[in-house]
Amino acid sequence: MRGKLLFLIADGMGDHPLAELNGRTPLQAARTPNMDHLAAKSRVGRCQTIPQGQPPGSDIANMSLLGFEPKIHHTGRGPIEAAAQGLDPAEEDLIYRLNLCSVSSFTPEGVMQDHSGGHVDTERARDFLDRLGRDLAEESLLLFPGFQYRHLLLQRGGRAKPEADLSVRPPHDILGRELGPDLEEYGKSPVLSRLVHRAAQMLQEEDGMEANAVWPWGQGPPLKLPSFRETFGLSGAVISAVDLIKGLGRSAGLELIAVPGATGGLDTDYLGKAEAARNFLQSKDFAYLHLEGPDECSHAGSAKDKVRCIELCDELIVGQLLQWMQDKGICCMIACDHLTPIQMRTHAKDPVPFLFHDPRAPVSGPKCFSEAEAESSGIFLEQGTQLLPWILKQMDHSL
Ligand SMILES: [Zn+2]
Repeated sequence: MRGKLLFLIADGMGDHPLAELNGRTPLQAARTPNMDHLAAKSRVGRCQTIPQGQPPGSDIANMSLLGFEPKIHHTGRGPIEAAAQGLDPAEEDLIYRLNLCSVSSFTPEGVMQDHSGGHVDTERARDFLDRLGRDLAEESLLLFPGFQYRHLLLQRGGRAKPEADLSVRPPHDILGRELGPDLEEYGKSPVLSRLVHRAAQMLQEEDGMEANAVWPWGQGPPLKLPSFRETFGLSGAVISAVDLIKGLGRSAGLELIAVPGATGGLDTDYLGKAEAARNFLQSKDFAYLHLEGPDECSHAGSAKDKVRCIELCDELIVGQLLQWMQDKGICCMIACDHLTPIQMRTHAKDPVPFLFHDPRAPVSGPKCFSEAEAESSGIFLEQGTQLLPWILKQMDHSL
């Protein structure tokens, strides 16, 4: 029995100094008395959650933080979300994430205007995808409607087909950019070409729907993570509003805890998430509490909202659990999965700051938790997958 452990992952929290915050990062500018209190009794350092040569995605970063090597286990965004939905595709299938999106025109010169197709209504999206599936009657393709603009496409036997090698860019990465390279990729696949062109044609005739294209991307064979419990000896759960964290959790055999007020935004139910972690850890070992808000605020370019989100996290999650963790000897690790610098409005590959606190063996740490303090501590883990084993080793030592 090595003790209990809480991971608090504030998605995209890390940042660069901003002029509008007087040269501070949002984490430095935010009032975070609880995290600072912990930092003073913690090991604070940095960890390279995005491996060399890999794109700085939440899927890759969170897989690393859960202790699983993306180079071995990451097969694509689609397979992770399929796992979240509880789909059980065959080994030889390919699963794509499919967006309903808005483009200026579905031609090589057209540009990606909105990766979420305005605010697509879930019922309308489902109705449309049902009709699209019937209209195409491609036996190898199955559409799985999800929520709003986020859906899945399964290609039976696709793993051995040329589609496995297509590289279509994620639509959120090409806002304002021309579609040429991606339409060329779709052009290499007769089945996908028929799907995307027929969809664009049908969407032209839809009234009152801003989305005018479908965009399959992030394809891969099914995700198969090793059992978290067998690998690390801990019974655990993920607490998150977003599908990709749920998918990683489900695939690794972790429980998924739904918090009704969890929205994935600034207005999420912070207290509800804190309570869910507390309840779970009464009887189990490991809770992975993920907060999407800071990343959303960064993509929106709002330093003010990002600072606010970090303050709410500090007050309503860390502050709420601080005394209890102290009393029960519960260890905690606070980090982000990757940086999402406000100025870039997208993810960056820099190492992330983290703090690890073991109330049974406090150490002397910096007076606050920030990117700069993490950098100056000298603790640097070169791979994201090293962090969890490094923490477990500290926990074993303090027994
Ligand atoms: Zn992320």
